[in-house]
Amino acid sequence: MNLSYWEYKTWLSNIDFTIVGSGIVGLNCAYYLSKKYPKAKILILEKGILPQGASTKNAGFACFGSISEIVSDLKSHTEEEVVDLVRNRWEGIQLLRNTLGDSRIDFQQHGGHELFLEKDTELFNECCEALGSVNKLLETVYSEEAYYLHPNNFDFGRIHKNYISSRFEAQINTGTMMNSLLSLVRRSGANILNSVEVTSLEDGQGSVKVCTNQFEFKTRKLIIATNGFANQLLDQEVKPARAQVLITKPINNLKIKGTFHLDEGFYYFRNIENRILLGGGRNLDFKTEETSEFGQTELIQNQLEAMLHEIILPNTEFQIEHRWSGIMGIGNKKKPIVKQLSDNLLCGVRLGGMGIAIGSLVGKNLADLS
Ligand SMILES: Cc1cc2nc3c(=O)[nH]c(=O)nc-3n(C[C@H](O)[C@H](O)[C@H](O)COP(=O)(O)OP(=O)(O)OC[C@H]3O[C@@H](n4cnc5c(N)ncnc54)[C@H](O)[C@@H]3O)c2cc1C
Repeated sequence: MNLSYWEYKTWLSNIDFTIVGSGIVGLNCAYYLSKKYPKAKILILEKGILPQGASTKNAGFACFGSISEIVSDLKSHTEEEVVDLVRNRWEGIQLLRNTLGDSRIDFQQHGGHELFLEKDTELFNECCEALGSVNKLLETVYSEEAYYLHPNNFDFGRIHKNYISSRFEAQINTGTMMNSLLSLVRRSGANILNSVEVTSLEDGQGSVKVCTNQFEFKTRKLIIATNGFANQLLDQEVKPARAQVLITKPINNLKIKGTFHLDEGFYYFRNIENRILLGGGRNLDFKTEETSEFGQTELIQNQLEAMLHEIILPNTEFQIEHRWSGIMGIGNKKKPIVKQLSDNLLCGVRLGGMGIAIGSLVGKNLADLS
């Protein structure tokens, strides 16, 4: 690219910190770096015209784990790991709320509910039996019992007559949250350059050479916050996982309010004012959905529509307004990878489906490590 002396000097010289990715992690990292080092020159490179991974595509659940998620996690993680993760999710949301303010993120605590399909009696019973011990285990995180049985007051079809609900779960407006975060970071003095894709990096003595689709430059420290795209630049245990979503047109007299998990969390839905947003279905075809390409498939979109007809809105007419997908970063452990890879290189990736909750904390932890 034909950059001028002025362009190089002003935007690409003497950079202290370069962050790759302007999702919730990259932006929080920039914000906390600017607080820690007020004089530092901070640059964020983002390949999309907007943040383009998961942070502007998600469902906006401020969730800390549904009961079946906790029960399942306890089979593959220690009790201590499970409590730590719930605590991180809980504290991460409080940090997001404190950083941006409830009105900017439209924080609404209507509670969250896990629905159990009629065919999943065994899972329902297992979760009912675990209620007491899970509430006890998480006593140190929440000040009161989090999970309780709740009648099916929204008349969902083909499910058990009780949900298992969490009183602390909430929802946010993903769009205004990200827009506010972008404004905050710009006000802090960091530069954000969009449509710039980092293609490779060379870690050297005291600096990293960064090659992009537009230009090359050097930075003292490089922080990778590219989540589901991380394996394009790093060798870490993180895989892309596409998640597909749809939203209905406004529905007259919609009573449904809150966040809902279904089929062991493979499906999730919520109201957004008088619309329903529904996502999930990766379990129908894990192989195809292990991709960093955006897109929708007939298989999953048809299943999402069938669930709207049969379970979520069985007696209500609706039309679909919009469909999209986002890319998550997952791995064999439900724990983000936040670490220093060399003197000049750090990463904060693999947020799974928990980035609303833990994204701020991961960004802050990265800044603390830098
Ligand atoms: C459909 C969907 C629903 C979800 N629902 C929820 C939910 O309800 N609650 C919840 O807590 N979590 C949810 N998540 C997960 C959550 O959105 C993510 O965990 C979180 O957004 C991850 O943030 P991040 O900053 O790590 O990554 P991202 O938001 O993916 O940001 C990474 C950024 O890096 C950029 N990038 C990648 N490679 C490069 C490169 N080489 N050069 C420059 N830029 C690059 C990308 O364009 C992207 O903007 C959902 C995710 C999806 C996809």
